[in-house]
Amino acid sequence: MEKNSLVNVRFSEILTWTVYPGVMAIGLMIYFGLKSHGINVFLSSYVATIIAGVGLITFFELVLPYRKEWLPSRSDVGTDLLFMILVQVLLPYLLSILSVSFLIGFINKNHWNLSAFWPHNYPIWIQILIMILSGDFFRYWLHRAAHTWIWLWRFHAVHHSVHNLYWLNLGRFHPLDRALQLFCDSLPFIFLSVSKEVVVLYTVIYSIKGFFQHCNVDVKLGWLNYIISGPELHRWHHSIKIHESNNNYGNFTIIWDILFGTYFLPKERKVSQLGLLNRNYPMSFLKQIQAPFIKGIDKEQFS
Ligand SMILES: [Zn+2]
Repeated sequence: MEKNSLVNVRFSEILTWTVYPGVMAIGLMIYFGLKSHGINVFLSSYVATIIAGVGLITFFELVLPYRKEWLPSRSDVGTDLLFMILVQVLLPYLLSILSVSFLIGFINKNHWNLSAFWPHNYPIWIQILIMILSGDFFRYWLHRAAHTWIWLWRFHAVHHSVHNLYWLNLGRFHPLDRALQLFCDSLPFIFLSVSKEVVVLYTVIYSIKGFFQHCNVDVKLGWLNYIISGPELHRWHHSIKIHESNNNYGNFTIIWDILFGTYFLPKERKVSQLGLLNRNYPMSFLKQIQAPFIKGIDKEQFS
């Protein structure tokens, strides 16, 4: 091998091992850097997520792709962008406003002191860890139920309809599926009155982690694949083969899969086809919103 190509191969190899922790660290540094200069925490979190999550992961999908053939078409990008804006940005915002307006009022009216159940005086990183472990526990069982019960699967099938993975199709969820997820891993922390600083930092890590989970970057996590639910594990969750995809339900962490027997990471081969058994499943935004109400559209999952 020529000296230049040997250097390139070695550089790519180093990148595959460092890109995930590196981008996460850059995201956190931007967040803390802006916050320390007096910038509003919400604005700091958006800037950190956009630069690290959107900018850097898009860049690495172009220079260090896992599968070149997974580059999305223009129509995929348009539909995924619509899902991202409506389901991943607007829906959580609306649900948090509604929760604060109605449920918190209801909780206060009944004098329920839910805030007492949260360790507000613990260090911020311990609080984040408790959020990750507890939120992911409920999310694990919701996700597993969505692959087990047909009436939940019909909504979750929208997320599994994609034939390739790249960071933007993380947003492709039916709004009802996404709302249920938010009731597991985000909204309870508002009811528990977890401080704004902790929730915002959790959201920065949650978003960058989410973009990585779906990314088409050749990421290697090594032993961290026993802790983090990263792209190497999540690709198997999108396999067309049901015995492969009914595994790796973890969102943030994979430890619940290890504990409950659904961990799946073959070392000797790579995932083949992704998506649903029904290759004629509708792919446009409006048709995917209607799809769960069409009986039998992906019934093969349960046949
Ligand atoms: Zn799933």
